[in-house]
Amino acid sequence: MGLAPPTEPLAKSVAVYFYRPGRSLFHVAFVIDHRPGSLLRLLTAIPVPGVNLLHLTISISNGGGGEIAAGHLYAEAAPDVDLEALTAALRTVPGVRAARLQAGSEGLLVDDAYPLSFTAGGPTALLQRRAAFSRMIQEIRDTMRSGGLVLLYEQGLLYGQSTAREDVRAIGSEFARRNLPTLLTGFGAMGWGQMQVASAESRADRLTIRVQDSLECVGQTSAGPLGHYLRGLFAGYASGIWDAPVECTERACVAMGALQCEFLLARSAPGPSPGR
Ligand SMILES: [Zn+2]
Repeated sequence: MGLAPPTEPLAKSVAVYFYRPGRSLFHVAFVIDHRPGSLLRLLTAIPVPGVNLLHLTISISNGGGGEIAAGHLYAEAAPDVDLEALTAALRTVPGVRAARLQAGSEGLLVDDAYPLSFTAGGPTALLQRRAAFSRMIQEIRDTMRSGGLVLLYEQGLLYGQSTAREDVRAIGSEFARRNLPTLLTGFGAMGWGQMQVASAESRADRLTIRVQDSLECVGQTSAGPLGHYLRGLFAGYASGIWDAPVECTERACVAMGALQCEFLLARSAPGPSPGR
């Protein structure tokens, strides 16, 4: 299986704040019954014109006796819209269990929704500015030299192993093994860079991972590959899913002038078991 050229990604945004100077911004956190029509009824209760929807997220969960959906709606209102009255009206919509208003200040609305959860097994997430995190990694490399590279690899390895354990608990080891290439691209969704994964050399125990815009390597110049954390992360994750030792090498790196970083993941042959 070859790797198709990367397609234009469709952005998925998680807004930490909205800023529209001078505008009246608000956020309504709501809980509705997870039944056909509930969301539509809530949305049609919002006055048009008067309210301009900026962002909407919705996630399904179990709670309160049956399936529910928790949503966050972010919008801009005309000056004559009474936000308290609007929220009270939303609470009376059939299927709406709760609605809570958060108003912005002078066009600034900080999203106070917490925790932020990724849905694979439900672990909570931390958002960090990408450039700042990249600088932190660079600092570790620069000040600690070869020790820093080992530290980054080891930290990636530990994180990969613990993530694999969580995923195996959530979806089962058989399914995770079958879908390892797809699962690996999840790290791209977490912000490490757009990833493509395919089997290498037509072998099920070897995978090629290409990373566009790798957080560790982009904007850097180096004589050797720089994706040490990612190398550890891939090796740790795959070893947790395959339940075997895994070698990961970075064979091309943007820091060395390549168009994208390329990693080879190889499962080691299981050694002879003692006593057999
Ligand atoms: Zn690289």
